[in-house]
Amino acid sequence: MKVAVIVVAAGNGVRLGAGTPKAFAPLCGEPLLAHALRGVLGCAQVGHVIVVAPASHLRQARVVAGDDPRVDVVTGGPDRAASVKAGIAALHAEDGIVLVHDAARCLAPAELFARVIHAVRAGHPTVVPGLAVTDTVKVVDAEGRVEATPDRESLRGIQTPQGFLREVLEHAHANGGSATDDAGLVGRIGGHVLVVDGDPRALKVTSALDLAVAAALMEDGNHDK
Ligand code: C5P
Repeated sequence: MKVAVIVVAAGNGVRLGAGTPKAFAPLCGEPLLAHALRGVLGCAQVGHVIVVAPASHLRQARVVAGDDPRVDVVTGGPDRAASVKAGIAALHAEDGIVLVHDAARCLAPAELFARVIHAVRAGHPTVVPGLAVTDTVKVVDAEGRVEATPDRESLRGIQTPQGFLREVLEHAHANGGSATDDAGLVGRIGGHVLVVDGDPRALKVTSALDLAVAAALMEDGNHDK
């Protein structure tokens, strides 16, 4: 089965405050999207990439993608789910496995994509990367009063890329209502979701502090070479 990756990059990035949509904010001299595509395209099994960009940045997204024939660029929607739907609409007929990835997780390494694809191919219709949480997590009410302290051992912080059999992703987006991630939509329609090991480098860049952490990670990686 052929593998496609939808890279959602159409957010406005207000919380980052870079004055440009987040995926086009610079990290060590290159836009986040360029770093994200390096991880995606570094995975040899990926045959088709759909970058979902803001209407204002279609040309820039095309420039970032270079002349790689595997990459299409489409216009995003008003929220993340609408942007994923725009990506789904641009899939090729032969794309049987679909990964959805946040451009904001710009340092997700190629091996993380490979791990997710491997688990989908092994028979899991929905696969998400997750990391053990180090903070204690509490459920609070509207006034901030603690209602519960879930057992930390059973919690995972969920990342992208999230991998799906294509029909599962399409069905979830058609029927799943709203959720903060695509696998959440699958859960809502009763589908099974497997968590595989995530990667600390797949952190999501949301604030200026995250951008500094990502820069430090890159620096660290360069020293390892
Ligand atoms: O805003 P947040 O960080 O949760 O966005 C996660 C990812 O979804 C980002 O890569 C962002 O570009 C993307 N997104 C999108 N279209 C939107 C909103 C967010 O592609 N309308």
